[in-house]
Amino acid sequence: MISMRSTWNLMAIGAVSLLLFACGDDQAKQAEDAPTEEEVSVAENEAPAEQRVAAVDGARIINADSEPGSWMAHGRTYDEQRFSPLTQVNAANAGELGLAWFADLETNRGVEASPIVVDGVMYTTSTWSIVYALDPRTGEMLWTYDPEVPREWGVYACCDVVNRGVAVWQGKVFVGTIDGRLIALDAATGEVAWSVNTIDRTKPYTITGAPRVVKGKVIIGNGGAELGVRGYVTAYDVDNGEQAWRFYTVPGNPDEPFENDIMKMAALTWNGEWWKYGGGGTAWDSMAYDPELDLLYIGVGNGSPWNQQIRSPGGGDNLFLSSIVALRPETGEYVWHYQTTPGETWDYTATQHMILADLEIDGVVRKTLMQAPKNGFFYVIDRATGEFISAEAYVPLNWATHVDKQTGRPVEVEGARFKNEPFVQSPAPYGGHNWHPMSYNPQTGLVYIPALDMPFVYGHDANFEYTPGRWNVAIDWLAAALPSDAAGRKALKPLLKGHLSAWDPVAQKEAWRIQHEGPWNGGALSTAGNLLLQGTADGRFVVYRADNGDKLWEFKTQTGIVAPPITYEIDGEQYVTIMAGWGGAFALAAGYFVNPESLPNLSRVLTFKIGGKNQLPAVEAGEPPAFDPPVLEASAEQLTHGVNKYAQFCGVCHGDSSVGGGLIPDLRRSAFLSDTQAWNDVVLHGALADNGMAPFGDFMSEEDAEAVRAYVVDQAHLAMRGESGE
Ligand code: CA
Repeated sequence: MISMRSTWNLMAIGAVSLLLFACGDDQAKQAEDAPTEEEVSVAENEAPAEQRVAAVDGARIINADSEPGSWMAHGRTYDEQRFSPLTQVNAANAGELGLAWFADLETNRGVEASPIVVDGVMYTTSTWSIVYALDPRTGEMLWTYDPEVPREWGVYACCDVVNRGVAVWQGKVFVGTIDGRLIALDAATGEVAWSVNTIDRTKPYTITGAPRVVKGKVIIGNGGAELGVRGYVTAYDVDNGEQAWRFYTVPGNPDEPFENDIMKMAALTWNGEWWKYGGGGTAWDSMAYDPELDLLYIGVGNGSPWNQQIRSPGGGDNLFLSSIVALRPETGEYVWHYQTTPGETWDYTATQHMILADLEIDGVVRKTLMQAPKNGFFYVIDRATGEFISAEAYVPLNWATHVDKQTGRPVEVEGARFKNEPFVQSPAPYGGHNWHPMSYNPQTGLVYIPALDMPFVYGHDANFEYTPGRWNVAIDWLAAALPSDAAGRKALKPLLKGHLSAWDPVAQKEAWRIQHEGPWNGGALSTAGNLLLQGTADGRFVVYRADNGDKLWEFKTQTGIVAPPITYEIDGEQYVTIMAGWGGAFALAAGYFVNPESLPNLSRVLTFKIGGKNQLPAVEAGEPPAFDPPVLEASAEQLTHGVNKYAQFCGVCHGDSSVGGGLIPDLRRSAFLSDTQAWNDVVLHGALADNGMAPFGDFMSEEDAEAVRAYVVDQAHLAMRGESGE
């Protein structure tokens, strides 16, 4: 599918490669003759605009405001503000928005991507790291690339088999795959240019985040800290995938040589034998870059296991967990860090979206970095030095009283570390804010935070045993267990809330908010047209006024939205695109507590414009399989064992009470419940591995599997008697 306008670009790249290879071993000649990165990009950008294909480079991203019609990088710009200067769609005419086109995606799990639109093509991703190139005017599919991730790898994905999008650079499209590969595709054809393995394939790593490209290096982290891994980010050469550098975010075994002095320093803040569990600190989502300071910022994740009493007995700050780390993009050299949650023990990642902006604070313009990490404090720090400026709670928060202005450290509340007894805490491990991108609007001065308001019960797991390759958080799930009776569930549901907070980062307080029905709503976008846009968990795409939150327009999307919108202009027409398709961590794990309006998952690209007249086809309502469980023949002891094993191994994907959250089959309705042999073949021996159900025979005995079956049978009977609280 090579179009005419891509041919010139391919030739240019081919010529450049030939030049490089022709120089061979004559290093001096190569240095002299080979075009520098700048020359290459200049050559490509000299092509007539209609002949460019993903001809993005650093200069072009830095000058993004000179071509506001493009959305060239993950957060549009290197500062990741997710603010568009476009004004054709604005507060006066947003009510006339309509569907321009939609494209169905053949997947049925969570869709979290930010599309890239540049040089007349849209590049985006969906479930299982599948990449699409579409015509942004019509939605016509130009090419699709499926990296064919082995479906049983999905068991390593804590939070659904999602992908947050691609990066593009000089004719290539880069995607990280759920099974840890980084793949460069030819932007014109979707063919693989190169592919590298970024992980130890014996460990439960996953990639869900979008790569970023800085100075000819494509940078990618990974996830897996719920299961037991050591986090890092790696930079690869855009041309050939050669590794340029790797920065580990937590220290390894101190009996072995440290990779660098920074790891040696970090190890002083750890105790015990953390490296046996991996230690965590996965940088699975956020990055930002300041070209003037030449600093790459990475957001670092939680400890592995979560519970610090197990991970680092005796405490310690455990650097660089839950930190923002500034690195040199060309070498990976450490420059500074700021730790949001020292001695992290609650899954309080600092992987959340980081926004760079210059703010006037106390009469002085400061170069700031802003983040609303999971721990519930909104941080403003100095992005040149990492110095703490301010932090205030942006959601209900009871684990700390405040952040000390002198030290920049949170002042914790007695008992919050759940050492002796469980602690009812806000925010939950989902965070006060999760991965859903924020937006900063320099015109209103507000940061829009897709916020979560949910409590959780943290309890120490005194019986924790490390299980390599499976869920390892060392939290007592029985203490955390949701109420199992109908009344308790009905009482709990209203406590799980979400809102879009319009936050004033200078005054450090909420200006106003949009209250939603429930949690886990989509990412945000704001524009110079005084618009604020967000999709919701209850299946709507909504446009508000950015200055006061008045609702201007909404569209029923037929499925819950978690992704952030983007906007672009092409042929003089402004479009707004959002990826639809319910999913992610809450969708999988929350079971009953998912808003019914979120379902089913209908994965699509939806694109709107003023006067758009397209319509979505009516949803065909399907009936779920009837309940048909066998008679419950389990002892109380067996049921308790089943609850435990279900919580340890199954709940994270199959959801609270095996309901499945609508993305994964409702186990209570499974025909296998009546057939122990078939049940064991699936649970222990991988009969449905190709569907994503990995075998658990290495971790569970037949007795364990039988106890889980009994638990699910019990749940089915509860539901049939109307005692499940649904
Ligand atoms: Ca986590």
